Amino acid sequence: MALHDALTEADLRKRFQAIFNNTFQFIFLVSVDGIILEINQAAVNFTGIIATEALGKALWELESWADEAARSKLQTGIYRASGGEFVRYTGEIVNLEGTRAVVDLSIKPIFSSAGEIDFFIVEGRDITAIKRMEFERDRERQHADTLHKLNEMKNEFVSQVSHELRTPLASIIGFAQTLLRSQNLAPEKAQQFLNIILDDGRRLERLVEDLLDISRIESGKTSLITQPCSISQIVEYAAHIIATEADSKRIRIVHDTTPEALPLLEIDNDRMTQVFVNLLANAVKFTPPDGSITLRTQKSAQTLEVSIADTGVGIPANDMPRLFEKFYRAKQRDTDGKEIRGTGLGLAIAKQIVELHGGSIRAESTPGKGSTFYVNLPLP
Ligand code: ADP
Repeated sequence: MALHDALTEADLRKRFQAIFNNTFQFIFLVSVDGIILEINQAAVNFTGIIATEALGKALWELESWADEAARSKLQTGIYRASGGEFVRYTGEIVNLEGTRAVVDLSIKPIFSSAGEIDFFIVEGRDITAIKRMEFERDRERQHADTLHKLNEMKNEFVSQVSHELRTPLASIIGFAQTLLRSQNLAPEKAQQFLNIILDDGRRLERLVEDLLDISRIESGKTSLITQPCSISQIVEYAAHIIATEADSKRIRIVHDTTPEALPLLEIDNDRMTQVFVNLLANAVKFTPPDGSITLRTQKSAQTLEVSIADTGVGIPANDMPRLFEKFYRAKQRDTDGKEIRGTGLGLAIAKQIVELHGGSIRAESTPGKGSTFYVNLPLP
């Protein structure tokens, strides 16, 4: 092979031409104005452009750039490189087969001996396969994370359910054993124990029903049976259901109705009744005797809003964000200092039903003054 000194200009040109056209990277030589001066074979092979047609055009005018965003990214790159900067970024090019390829692009200014920019070398490398691998790896990692989280949630759920079941079960077993062991128990005492057993049995029954409800909704097995319904009628019916309980605490239920006729909504009557019975039962449960509950239905531009405002114990501010979570209960006490019991599932179910209808539910509360729950349902 000839030594460097002995090479003619033509030999040198041939060598560099060989490198230029046989490298894997695709290369464009571009003038300071962005005009294509040279294209190597790899660029031609990759993009399918015809070299003779491309020469003399501005680089960003090539058809191969994936879209306008890719073009303007290139223009910005060349602008930055004309400040003397070496620019490198990830761009998108449509390759010969017509598919979008992700390319690692660099724009390097080449300076003359006078220190001016002579031209740019715009170089690219197809990294689609690498990106795809990274994407797959990320997806697999996310998938594994999701499975892990689901598993944790399942374990937490099982432990919460067992915890909820344990208390009433222990009480049922305990009182039943006492009844069996103590033959000479006073009839009033026996009656009292039986009532506790019945109460706790009912609590278990409610818990199991709520759990079945939650699991049916969450597994997507609940389909709504919708028909045009009057929301005011549903709310009134729900109020009727809890009237006896409210009366026993002398709690007044006030219907603050709007005179305007409200449109009918496409909803599942039974499910929506369940939501309002739940909200009203809570209002009664968490309101001391002689209080009041105000029901209001209002129409806004896009929704019908039902609000249920009570004059109850209220909800501490730090409990508000988790109120609609399964099993979440704020630890309120009633006026006698007794803890108020429940399953902590009612609001979670209500939220899911409202959201199945495309609506939303939220709460506001001032501890010691009362709480208001708002249900918003989309207008047809
Ligand atoms: P449960 O009433 O069975 O405990 P919910 O899911 O219906 O379960 O309610 C969750 C918690 O939200 C309740 O335990 C209570 O702390 C709080 N809460 C719900 N409604 C009210 C209300 N009207 N006033 C005060 N607290 C309420």
